[in-house]
Amino acid sequence: MISKPLQDQFEWSISNILTCDDAHVSRVVESELSIKLDIDESLVKSLAMWLGKDYGTEEFDCSKCIARIDSFERKIRELPKMLLIFAKTTDHDQFPLEMDLSELMDGSKPAKLSLMGIVYRKSIDKEKVYVSIVRKQDKWIKFVPGAKMEEVEDFKQVKPLLLIYK
Ligand SMILES: [Zn+2]
Repeated sequence: MISKPLQDQFEWSISNILTCDDAHVSRVVESELSIKLDIDESLVKSLAMWLGKDYGTEEFDCSKCIARIDSFERKIRELPKMLLIFAKTTDHDQFPLEMDLSELMDGSKPAKLSLMGIVYRKSIDKEKVYVSIVRKQDKWIKFVPGAKMEEVEDFKQVKPLLLIYK
């Protein structure tokens, strides 16, 4: 069970939009807290691919009849206050500062998100540490364990493990 405050911040929902042979449309909604993505080309494309993944053995029935489900589509029903994306693999420079997910939404909802922070791993004195860079108004502040925080200009070369959008 996940605590309510976490849910309020990070939970988002996805519509499985099913259309049967008789053209009935039904929706099955599921929720997510964070996702793991392979990010190769662009983050928006990777999200689209993740949404469009083949469900293979998963089966849904039409809510109105017994006809076969003919088409299956997944869209974002509602975005969370904070979108957490764990990057399984990422090439650098694949995370945009701003992104528009409106084409992935179920219905026309504004879906412009801004990068709020990233977390990545770095070796310092042979030790692996987690470094975070967070947006503070127009500035980017870097936090390295055991060091003073500092403002950074360019961090597009790092390979993030976690991306936070709002
Ligand atoms: Zn039907």
